[in-house]
Amino acid sequence: MGATLDALLRLQTIENQLRNLNEKILSKRRSVEVCRKRVSKLEQQIAETHQSIKQAQAGADRFELDRKAKEEHIQKLKEALNRTKSNKEYAALLTQLNMDKADSLKIEDQVLAVMGRVDEERKKEREFKARLEKEHAQVAELTRVAAANEAGLAAEVKDLENQRAEAAALVPLGVLQIFEKTCEKHDGEAMALLHKTHPKRAEFVCNGCNMAIPLEIVNALQSGDKVYQCQTCSRILFLESSGIAV
Ligand SMILES: [Zn+2]
Repeated sequence: MGATLDALLRLQTIENQLRNLNEKILSKRRSVEVCRKRVSKLEQQIAETHQSIKQAQAGADRFELDRKAKEEHIQKLKEALNRTKSNKEYAALLTQLNMDKADSLKIEDQVLAVMGRVDEERKKEREFKARLEKEHAQVAELTRVAAANEAGLAAEVKDLENQRAEAAALVPLGVLQIFEKTCEKHDGEAMALLHKTHPKRAEFVCNGCNMAIPLEIVNALQSGDKVYQCQTCSRILFLESSGIAV
């Protein structure tokens, strides 16, 4: 194998290690983010519950005012009933009084129903707040773990970045650009091994995408140091260092 491909393979190895480390760092950061999202959802739920408690409470207050007005009216009817002289007027007042009493009871039921809802919402709010407190503690803990993890890996990351720079310096600029572009396209995997599909036949596929590779490219790779990309997936092709008999 030529020097360029050797350098590229070394670069790929370092790239993989670096990406693994970065993934470890990112996965811890993502856990913090997931927990933060739960916090903001709970905060939103608490705000919504608070709002519905306020509205229900206002409804209960209005019913209570209605009930008081009705009670005052009932009181006046009772007084009028005591003063009345005619049976007809007495009967009419009594009918009105009974109707008002029934209305007052209905309003009382409505007040109780609304107050029941307020209690339920308050219970929900307390539960959300208790969960929020736990999530806040969890965010703090995960943030601490992520920072400690990152600090612990910092030296290793720095070392690998230096190694990558050294390895990249050995790759011609144009080839390096191809490598980096392909890395971006294939999630860090820029290189693809040529795989011989049959022990007796000279047939090869790209290990990255499984598509056939023309024999002249395989031959060229065996004898020269030129870089060839798979025409399907554009990964940079290489042969096993032991050499493959065509
Ligand atoms: Zn391919």
